[in-house]
Amino acid sequence: MVKIFIDAGHGGSDTGATGNGLQEKDVTLQIARKIEEQLKGYENAEVKLSRTDDQTVSLQQRTDMANSWGADVLLSIHLNSSSSSEARGFESYRYPNAGSRTVQFQDILHAEIMERIDNFTDDNRGKQQANFHMLRESNMTACLTENLFVSNKQDSDLLKDENFLNELAAGHTNGCVRFFGLKKK
Ligand SMILES: [Zn+2]
Repeated sequence: MVKIFIDAGHGGSDTGATGNGLQEKDVTLQIARKIEEQLKGYENAEVKLSRTDDQTVSLQQRTDMANSWGADVLLSIHLNSSSSSEARGFESYRYPNAGSRTVQFQDILHAEIMERIDNFTDDNRGKQQANFHMLRESNMTACLTENLFVSNKQDSDLLKDENFLNELAAGHTNGCVRFFGLKKK
């Protein structure tokens, strides 16, 4: 059984980034739930979400949850924001000192997501590294995705589009499917 922990960034009193009528916490939960739903179509995959509604959950609680559950992989879902309204696109993060399995996971995940969303946006900001809590304090393969910019009009229009969110989620799902070699039910 492959255990996949999906962290819907922010929540409750922490809205995350806001802009163009969007709150990051709402969209991260939508994406996380879509990934969970899609993964139900695969054998030997167990999914746990860091939150299932609009709850306040600290970063420490999130990584404690993933660690004590014994997750095989952690996916942390976020939206981006910038003081420049021009900034847009997708980027993924891993911990700078991550092992080769996480490097491989980021390669696969990033490629699968770009493939699914490239009919909507071709703005690929690339594979990044950062010393984020979710990546540093989790004991398993981990990646954090920054799914477009709420501060950009074009990106935020996409983030309001159900079809786009389905593709975005499918990219995350396919990344897990390819990485673990999951079989369809
Ligand atoms: Zn965030």
